[in-house]
Amino acid sequence: MTANEKNANGEHTGQVVVITGGASGLGARFAELFAKRGAHIVIGDIAEEAAHKLSASLGGTSIKCDVTKSNDVDALAQHAVSHFGKIDVFINNAGIAPIPNEERFATAVANQMLRLESNVAATTPLNVITDMTDDEWDHMLKVHLYGTFYGCRAAARYMTPQRSGSIINISSVLGLRPTALAPHYSTAKAAIIALTKSQSQELAPLGVRVNAVCPGYIDTPLLAPMNELMKVAIVSQIGVGRLGTDDEIAEMVSFIASRKASYCTGEIFSVTGGYSG
Ligand code: NDP
Repeated sequence: MTANEKNANGEHTGQVVVITGGASGLGARFAELFAKRGAHIVIGDIAEEAAHKLSASLGGTSIKCDVTKSNDVDALAQHAVSHFGKIDVFINNAGIAPIPNEERFATAVANQMLRLESNVAATTPLNVITDMTDDEWDHMLKVHLYGTFYGCRAAARYMTPQRSGSIINISSVLGLRPTALAPHYSTAKAAIIALTKSQSQELAPLGVRVNAVCPGYIDTPLLAPMNELMKVAIVSQIGVGRLGTDDEIAEMVSFIASRKASYCTGEIFSVTGGYSG
């Protein structure tokens, strides 16, 4: 083990780290990495059993939490404080994927080919906006944007009196480069960036840092509903030629939560492997 790795292993000693959506994918990896580096882990997830199993294996705790419900998110923060006495890091990570529509994706790819031939007039309408229901729109914004707002608010209520803390919001590359195929997801993720910057200005003088991470396409269960054509098309737009790993995002989140990032607030950290879609 190198000296750097040894130091990293103690990086989060004694920190209390709350993770929404920590039962799966990125959130689960954050939990494992922070625990390995000395943190106390608190997971809030709708997947109650998986959250309990993981947190228990890491010596932490969990609570059922649906981030679309502000009472649940408040209860998560309260749960962390009653178990460990404080909150040092609050990661707003819970999320859902837009349900991929294979036919529409194939149409988008065909349209792209027509564009390359300068034949825009022949492209087929995607009808994403016109077919979207109120419920689809509302739920996407509720989980991502409202969930993140509830998390920021709950965390700030504990962090500002202690004059320290780090809030990390998981946005997406699609918040920076919106896609026509998922306007609700893109909008929610872009709004999280605005919320992050706004919150950081209010909380910086109070010792609380607020940052966002924009992962590119990362190999987690979130991508499971995608078919092979979708994955190939996406990877073809990633500079390094592959999907990202949960570790590659977890290392960035760990850095942001550490003392090394003491001058970082209101920042948007993009980790996309050179995605150019
Ligand atoms: P996963 O599906 O692996 O994990 C998401 C977790 O959040 C699951 O445990 C899920 O439970 C839980 N969850 C879903 N809805 C709620 C809710 N209302 N309240 C509480 N928990 C909930 O996805 P990822 O780990 O890939 O995604 C984590 C975050 O990263 C998301 O915000 C996502 O948008 C973002 N992201 C992911 C990218 C990727 O390529 N993977 C790229 C860019 C951003 P259940 O499994 O039961 O639904």
